[in-house]
Amino acid sequence: MYTPSYWEVSAFWQKKWDFIVIGSGIVGLITAQELKHKYPDADILVLERGILQMGASTRNAGVACFGSISELLLQESTESQLDMLNLVNLRFSGLQRLFEITQGKDIGHQSTGGYEVFTADEEDNYQHYLTQLDRINALLEPITHLKQTYIPKDEDISKMGLKNVSHLIYNPAEALLHSGKLLFALWQNTQKIGILVWNQMEVEHVNSYAEGAEIILKQGRLYADKVIITTNAFAKKLLPELDVVPGRGQVCITKPIPNLRLKGAFHYQEGYYYFRSVEDNRVLLGGGRNLDFKSEETYEFGFTELVKNKLTTMLKEMILPDTNFEIEYWWSGIMGFGQEKAPIIREVKPNIYCAVRMSGMGVAIGSKVAQKVAEMM
Ligand SMILES: Cc1cc2nc3c(=O)[nH]c(=O)nc-3n(C[C@H](O)[C@H](O)[C@H](O)COP(=O)(O)OP(=O)(O)OC[C@H]3O[C@@H](n4cnc5c(N)ncnc54)[C@H](O)[C@@H]3O)c2cc1C
Repeated sequence: MYTPSYWEVSAFWQKKWDFIVIGSGIVGLITAQELKHKYPDADILVLERGILQMGASTRNAGVACFGSISELLLQESTESQLDMLNLVNLRFSGLQRLFEITQGKDIGHQSTGGYEVFTADEEDNYQHYLTQLDRINALLEPITHLKQTYIPKDEDISKMGLKNVSHLIYNPAEALLHSGKLLFALWQNTQKIGILVWNQMEVEHVNSYAEGAEIILKQGRLYADKVIITTNAFAKKLLPELDVVPGRGQVCITKPIPNLRLKGAFHYQEGYYYFRSVEDNRVLLGGGRNLDFKSEETYEFGFTELVKNKLTTMLKEMILPDTNFEIEYWWSGIMGFGQEKAPIIREVKPNIYCAVRMSGMGVAIGSKVAQKVAEMM
């Protein structure tokens, strides 16, 4: 049982922190860094419930992407052209910012480009996307500075060793990252500038009062002038009024495959499936939430036979046909979704702020979301 010493009580527990950030994912760590740059003398504490991050940041696919053509056209039709362009801009500039922040660190960055995959049953959709290609490329040019962000590239189907695939649309601006190395780099940056990160500290409640906020944990109470909640999918547990629901993503990775032909990032069925090559000749594949949305709307890390079978079949029949492979790891991560795609960045109660609901795009938008919430302090 933990019983604090007098020294600990006076230096850590009774002290009023300038800022306490809850959650040490991409958004939490970058928010803490932004605040430290803005207020160099501030005492900043980050509280994380896991030994490592226990959400999405270290459990995703590690793809630096800003939307496939099908995803963009869907958003343009269901929301508006402006919403779609604003989101592309946020994702693209967010990635540039992330690379700036981690400059000089090994985050496993590979400029491979990425593809959207179309199968024979999607021929009509594909033909429609082709008619829209020039228009979308012109709209995106001021953001990506590319004449052609999306390029039909069917010749790469056999080069990549794919089967049962009819078409590919290539995006040269997509890249691959190593999510573990990325978070390690962000954590190192955080420590270097004097921010304290406490792990295995699960926050149970946050209370607002006129001069600050109180944080309740199993181990005791902490006080801060301002608290920033960056727990993404788990935000509703602390702030029940928010429109954030969890969405689980199940992922597998193969053992290294000699002479692997696949290279780059791949998106299939409006992004519900994603696969990629990994530095040491492995293939990572994830997705399938759309097979049973209700079961995947969960806070529990875990797997279902339904999704595992689908992913295994995709590996055998589409991604690695005629190749002997073994799956080495399965894992899952929890994302935060809601009625709208845009993140929630606001003061929820006096002195309590949130920067949550990354809608499965936090690698891309996380740095900008962190910047925006820090600007509010
Ligand atoms: C399988 C998968 C694939 C993905 N692929 C991509 C992709 O290709 N491109 C992309 O841009 N994004 C992708 N994402 C989404 C991206 O990973 C997330 O949007 C991003 O990591 C969210 O970062 P975050 O910091 O907001 O949240 P998280 O990384 O979830 O961090 C929240 C942290 O809060 C902690 N926490 C929760 N509750 C408490 C509490 N009460 N007390 C203390 N700590 C708490 C958690 O343990 C966690 O570490 C993917 C996600 C998954 C799961």
